[in-house]
Amino acid sequence: MVIQPKIRGFICTNAHPAGCAHNVSTQIDYVKAQSHSDEGPKNVLVLGCSTGYGLASRIVSAFGYGAKTLGVCFEKAPTEKKTGTAGWYNTAAFHQQAEGAGLYHKTLNGDAFSKEMKAEVIEAIKQDLGQVDLVIYSLASPRRTDPETGEVYKSVLKPVGQSYTTKTYDTDKDLVHEVSLEPASEEDIQNTVKVMGGEDWELWLDALAEAGVLAQNCKTTAYTYIGKELTWPIYGHATIGKAKEDLDRAVKAIESKQASLNVKAYVSSLKALVTQASSAIPVMPLYISLIYKVMKQEGTHEGCIEQIDGLFRLLLQDAPEVDEANRLRMDGKETNDATQAKIKELWQQVTQDNFHQLSDYAGYHQEFLHLFGFGFDGVDYEADVSPLADW
Ligand code: NAD
Repeated sequence: MVIQPKIRGFICTNAHPAGCAHNVSTQIDYVKAQSHSDEGPKNVLVLGCSTGYGLASRIVSAFGYGAKTLGVCFEKAPTEKKTGTAGWYNTAAFHQQAEGAGLYHKTLNGDAFSKEMKAEVIEAIKQDLGQVDLVIYSLASPRRTDPETGEVYKSVLKPVGQSYTTKTYDTDKDLVHEVSLEPASEEDIQNTVKVMGGEDWELWLDALAEAGVLAQNCKTTAYTYIGKELTWPIYGHATIGKAKEDLDRAVKAIESKQASLNVKAYVSSLKALVTQASSAIPVMPLYISLIYKVMKQEGTHEGCIEQIDGLFRLLLQDAPEVDEANRLRMDGKETNDATQAKIKELWQQVTQDNFHQLSDYAGYHQEFLHLFGFGFDGVDYEADVSPLADW
């Protein structure tokens, strides 16, 4: 079939296998072009391994440090008539490249929040790896089924305390407009913490340690976005920010429970960029289009792979530099005062009429298409391709 993007609101409902493979290859090429220490992780578990920051973490582990990678994701397989999800094709492409490079790779597709998936992963580690020495927690999900009660929790994106009115950009209608967001209830906050907080990360480390598959001195990190004043009302100080604060609690819980193994847990703060998760957050497309403009002008623009390659250099140190809350920070080039001042100035000026001049929406949109394997030079989008791909 000929596969062209089908965009519905903030999501693209199909994906291009050759384009996704191109995306994965580009990231692998970037990593191979950097020099890496020989002292990297050997066996890495990546939870949320198929897109965004998790995929980049897997690529850096494998192609930067030569690690064996076991990944978990939740993706849809293609059929003769319908394409698979981008994460499906990314994983197929990663497997193919890892195979070619002689690097161990296995991916389990299913619900990482479930007890069954934890058991499957433990089995795979026992059979193939013995133990893991790095666990990356990069899940981004709108819902979670509690493994004990079976209750389904849904996360919400709402301000906390009071309603908030701000500018936003509707990518579907090409419209800059005001949006008013009603404050979250206490239940909304608790539900979001349940989905995107640290509970499941902690449960993973408990299960792995109990099964004896965590190596001594194992490291683990979960990802967060902290941001600054422009995004605090809808992210940092909002329901999702409350969930992310719970990761700091989980760090302490993990380190104290796994003290005999000397497990080191970190929350790593990464910069805002276009991923399937961030494009669903109100305000983010506008904010990201503006930071892309400013950071490209400053020469500090980075994508997932650059951020994660840099993060691993920090994470793998014996005593990495941390902020006052003990977090690893990779977001300084975005959140420093000088850069934020430029973004704020653009934010105040931006209207429907000048949006495309003031922002780098073209760059945002191109990266959005890239997430689904579209918009790459060098991929023939008129060609008849099979949507089928297997791992
Ligand atoms: P993403 O949507 O690109 O990736 C999410 C991954 O989680 C995918 O591999 C998906 O298959 C997997 N997944 C989702 N639900 C699952 C489930 N139930 N079981 C198994 N796998 C599941 O998201 P992303 O933007 O890369 O986000 C990853 C982490 O990075 C999140 O914690 C996010 O908050 C954080 N982060 C994102 C940004 C940003 O701007 N995108 C910035 C800083 C931090």
